[in-house]
Amino acid sequence: MKSADEARIAYLRKQLSHYSDKYYLDDDPEISDAEYDKLFYELIALEERHPELYDENSPTVRVGGKAADRFAKIEHRYPLKSLTDVFNYDELRTWYEKNKADFPDASFSVEAKIDGLSVALHYEKGALIYGATRGDGNIGEDVSANVRTIRSVPLKIDYDGTLEVRGEIYMPRMAFEALNAKRESNGEQLFANPRNAAAGSLRQLDPKITAMRNLDIFVFNLQYCDRNFSSHSESLDFLSSIGFNVLSLRRVVCGYDDIESEIRKIGELRSSLPYDIDGVVIKVDSLSMRAAIGEGTNVPKWAVAYKFPPEQKQTLLENITVQVGRTGVLTPIAELAPVKLAGSVVSRATLHNIDLIRDRDIRIGDIVIVQKAGDIIPEIIASVPEKRTEELPEFFMPEYCPSCGEPTFRDEEAAFRCTNASCPAQLLRNIEHFASKDAMDISGLGPALIRGMKDSGLISDVADLYYLDENALSSLERMGKKSASNIIRSVEQSKDRGLSRLLYALGIRLVGISTAESLCKRYTDIEDYFSLDREALSQIDDIGEITASSIVNFFSHPGTRETVDKLKRAGVKTTADNTKPKDDRFSGMTFVLTGTLPTLTRSEAEAIIKERGGKTSSSVSKKTSVVLAGEDAGGKLTKARELELRIIDEEEFRRMLL
Ligand SMILES: [Zn+2]
Repeated sequence: MKSADEARIAYLRKQLSHYSDKYYLDDDPEISDAEYDKLFYELIALEERHPELYDENSPTVRVGGKAADRFAKIEHRYPLKSLTDVFNYDELRTWYEKNKADFPDASFSVEAKIDGLSVALHYEKGALIYGATRGDGNIGEDVSANVRTIRSVPLKIDYDGTLEVRGEIYMPRMAFEALNAKRESNGEQLFANPRNAAAGSLRQLDPKITAMRNLDIFVFNLQYCDRNFSSHSESLDFLSSIGFNVLSLRRVVCGYDDIESEIRKIGELRSSLPYDIDGVVIKVDSLSMRAAIGEGTNVPKWAVAYKFPPEQKQTLLENITVQVGRTGVLTPIAELAPVKLAGSVVSRATLHNIDLIRDRDIRIGDIVIVQKAGDIIPEIIASVPEKRTEELPEFFMPEYCPSCGEPTFRDEEAAFRCTNASCPAQLLRNIEHFASKDAMDISGLGPALIRGMKDSGLISDVADLYYLDENALSSLERMGKKSASNIIRSVEQSKDRGLSRLLYALGIRLVGISTAESLCKRYTDIEDYFSLDREALSQIDDIGEITASSIVNFFSHPGTRETVDKLKRAGVKTTADNTKPKDDRFSGMTFVLTGTLPTLTRSEAEAIIKERGGKTSSSVSKKTSVVLAGEDAGGKLTKARELELRIIDEEEFRRMLL
């Protein structure tokens, strides 16, 4: 049986590999660096606790990013290692003291960490031979043709031997803004930040495009040279003297206090620099000491990267607007006076929900503190009430949906929702749900088609599905006569699914498959539901007060009356016949359910079994026919194994239903 740690490790490895591929291969980060780091360090901690689960493919071993196929691969002669990150001064001091204990004379090079893309440049006999991306540190991509277009990369240097340097290619902020402005006017997708723009520009198949992107480079390390140096700083001075653009924000210091004050100085310069930096690197300067200190698995022990906390700025909260999501949830959005933050201009940020607005005392007209952690999603940390020059009113969520004008309500999870089942903002999702397998089971109705039908005005509520015109349908994009007639037939067949599936299909909040079935046992005609009150509903098994309210709200909405009438006119069955099960494929079988299934709730699975003549039991015995096990299944699964019973997962269960 898998332990919780083992499951978590597997999950983290999968997620991190995915994010890492998105980041390195597609230049399209899905989560912020801070979130990524959090997961990454959680994984490291778990792996340390479980050395038996070592896997060489773990993202912690692989370092991150494999070479994409479109460029030739280059094996680095000298690996481009990453650095251990530290996030506060305590961690930094610990690292410092450990080195100082072994080497009391050690001095440290403190350098700004450019937020760009690491490359190796290889020279022989004074000429640039190739340039390669970092890739996974051992194998990178040959981007020589593109690197050659960068003006600050010297093609010839004043040194005759073999030499390799490591540098960071970046896009200056001005160039980034100009590029995004141009992309915006061309209707192209914008780059999230200068680093992504630099990565995307360097990895162009056509070097002419790279050449137009105004990339730049700072060289920050001598990887190899057939001449010897005693210290890192000496080697950088040498590189500068032979024509490289060497990092200028660097200084060698001895004591810890000097290191910290250098970091603070660089931090203060951060927003006024013409390029992005995301931290400060602290390295032991003496090369012989470095050799004695040595390397960890992926990272040298003689250097760390101090990561800056997320950048924050103050700006004016001009307005709060409200968006209606596909699930009907209303989300407040901060409309800000544009402010430059972490390399891009921020003018909107999500406020999540009304509780957050209250907790942080955020009011329209406030000066607020906006934070952006490396990438994409800006956040409002707090208001600055001291800066209020007048009394500002509190913000309230709208009583009416901004999308359809129907009343909103607040659910038990603090979310405001639109009550209207045919709210345009929710319609797509509602129709998808209505057509889904467990609901009305209308095949062929994918999200793209539903959107097409909505956009061309063919449907404005679920009942419209039953009035589709075959000709109009076949004229939609990517539809033909044949697919159109298949859909019409599929819609036709769905009319007889019966009341319980219809109730489920209507997407009444909190009414799942099994609740719908419980309802139908008591009230067998949809007309009954229009006159039910909370009290009557609460009498039914499995129906709590909140569900009862949700049902009453749904049926008291005028739109529901209209939809149901339309369904009836189309000949959709709106009554239940409770006489016989769907089929009897499970008759004589006893199922035991254990653990959490990926998509079905336990009661949904039970309902499916019962509908098909099967029984369910809560304990495993020799009489058990099948054990349906999900994640974190416990003792029941162990027992089932001992008894050598048939054990299946949800996927196999679904196959049994086909
Ligand atoms: Zn609405």
